[in-house]
Amino acid sequence: MVSTSALELGVDVGALDVCVLNGYPGSVAGALQRFGRAGRRRRTALGVLVASSNLLDQYIAQHPEFFLGASPEHARVDPDQLLILMDHIRCAAFELPFRAGERFGSEDLPAALDYLAAQGVLHREGDCWHWIADSYPANAVSLRSVADGNFVVIDLTDGRKSVIAEVDYSSAALTLYEGAIYMVQSTPWQVEKLDWVGRKAFVRATRADYYTDAIDYTKLKILDQFACDAAVPARCAHGEVHVVRRVAGYKKIRYYTHENVGYGAVSLPDQEMHTSAVWWEIDPQALEAAFESRYEALDGFLGAAFALHHIAALLSLAEVRDLGRAVGDGNRTWSAVVGADGRGTARAFDGAEFDVGGAALPFRPAVFLYDNYPGGIGLAAPLHGLRAEVVARAADLLAGCACASGCPACVGPVLARDARDRLPPKAAAARVLALFARSAPPSAAAR
Ligand SMILES: [Zn+2]
Repeated sequence: MVSTSALELGVDVGALDVCVLNGYPGSVAGALQRFGRAGRRRRTALGVLVASSNLLDQYIAQHPEFFLGASPEHARVDPDQLLILMDHIRCAAFELPFRAGERFGSEDLPAALDYLAAQGVLHREGDCWHWIADSYPANAVSLRSVADGNFVVIDLTDGRKSVIAEVDYSSAALTLYEGAIYMVQSTPWQVEKLDWVGRKAFVRATRADYYTDAIDYTKLKILDQFACDAAVPARCAHGEVHVVRRVAGYKKIRYYTHENVGYGAVSLPDQEMHTSAVWWEIDPQALEAAFESRYEALDGFLGAAFALHHIAALLSLAEVRDLGRAVGDGNRTWSAVVGADGRGTARAFDGAEFDVGGAALPFRPAVFLYDNYPGGIGLAAPLHGLRAEVVARAADLLAGCACASGCPACVGPVLARDARDRLPPKAAAARVLALFARSAPPSAAAR
């Protein structure tokens, strides 16, 4: 029997003796659930995990104790996150009126109730807030996402006008731009028109021999910093950030050969959100001393960011896409990306190359990991608590990777040619992580 994750939970298939997982599902709990499909008749069963070249798969293969050890994951969602809390208050008010003096969550409840009253959802009468809206609030609460407003994908082939898919708001800009090839059950469709305001994408079946990959730039500005190690040479902090993401265009990539066969331009509104983040930076003097050139340092930051991002997702029981990752100056001046030559380069927000080499320019790159949902969902602050462990595990991962100068299983898809004039990305990333490791005393977990 071959199955997708559909059989992961609660299905008793019966007399199965062996379960083979094609790749790590992303969490220990998920892997155990899948293995648990075999051996349900009190017989000994075998579970085999076939690791792909994905970073998490390689990490698990190298560190089986992480998988076999007791409960390494914490399901982290912050119930007092404002968007989540407001949904719960709406649902609670629908069940029973709130009375003055009652408590719900740790935020200011009367302020929240007054806000809902101003929205016409509740009505205050004396010391009581009653539900007055027509709708049933739980219908509007998504268990998967806090950003509302899904996009629908409408098929126009042969005048059909049928809805073939729904895409959540945060992925729409990256997958539904005009010209994009959108896959539904391995059939390609091409987006002909995107109605951003109406949240509709019109597509037509296509026979194109390429797929598309969005080119996007992320700019991030630190708004507020809550906690920070004042240590030298590196610091780790967490706080609130403003993230702007711009999809500037897309690449057309031929199937199988993965050749780049063209580009297209995209014009979409910038995606803005206010969310929480954790970040690491290195004292400029220590950074100049550690690297011969600033571009080597960028390679190091990008590679370290890739490893930290995956390890952080692993430790938070989150999907990799639940956390965003950015390398930049934290002030929206530039951000670093892996360029067409496979090496780190800096971009200004319009996508133009930004020269970070000038000695007069202050050079303070940082690695940011942010909650990839408006308002944050409570991942960043606990990661700050785990900072020493996140860095130690990322450094471990690099040290344990069999590649020579960097690969997708450690520092990400870089072109790790051993250019004589530039440090290999893996060595650069290891140097950055070694500096990050000196930013904080080891946490209890790491000891
Ligand atoms: Zn590697």
